[in-house]
Amino acid sequence: MVKKKPNCIITDTYFKETLHQNIPYRSDVEIEEWKHKWTPKKVRRRKYGYVTYKLISESRSFPDSSFEHKALTIALRQWGLRTKEIRFKRVTGKADLVCKFATKDQDSYFKDKPNVLAYAYFPNGGEIGGDMTFNDSIWWSDDGQPVNAHELQPDTYPANTRTKIKTYNLIHVMLHESGHALGLKHHPDCKKCIMYPYYSGKVLLHEHDVLRIQTFYGKRTISKQIIDYFRDRMTRKWT
Ligand SMILES: [Zn+2]
Ligand SMILES: [Zn+2]
Repeated sequence: MVKKKPNCIITDTYFKETLHQNIPYRSDVEIEEWKHKWTPKKVRRRKYGYVTYKLISESRSFPDSSFEHKALTIALRQWGLRTKEIRFKRVTGKADLVCKFATKDQDSYFKDKPNVLAYAYFPNGGEIGGDMTFNDSIWWSDDGQPVNAHELQPDTYPANTRTKIKTYNLIHVMLHESGHALGLKHHPDCKKCIMYPYYSGKVLLHEHDVLRIQTFYGKRTISKQIIDYFRDRMTRKWT
């Protein structure tokens, strides 16, 4: 079997400065976690502060909707639901997490590695920390299913074409990149983890993802009802 290359690259500029931590989650692997995290100013009388985000360019995959904006909000909310110290707020001005779509002609990473779906920077105290870039030379969707080629490229494929084009689940990839943007590295072993380095299309955090993010930002206690509601919503069709 051909060994797959990871679909995600993470920049390793600050890798050498990592610290050992004992991570209290059940796994055979011990991940040396990233040492930087977001420390937003707490909202008055609350236990949390806002990490801000914005999406500065849109994907060609959703010309008639703004699903990419919704997907980013959903992805970040899923992390925020589990953390005590951070929530997320969309802003139009200066943002912590600056997100964009770029084609291989616009971004040299994607030019060199066209199979990479996206990349993100860890929080590092600098401007670029937390920024995420999504490869817009591939096609995205809300469910990762193949789409009729005419629908996506009407100029190239006739209306009666039977050709289908592979798409990638945008929420999955946004969840994964957000994990990096908040400080999580890959989980090399657990295929159920959102932080597994290969595309899986999963749209729900795995218990390792949850426990790891809580070592950074504390544990938010939410009712099982909310977790169940969210799980149902995430596995239903979006449109
Ligand atoms: Zn990754
Ligand atoms: Zn896992």
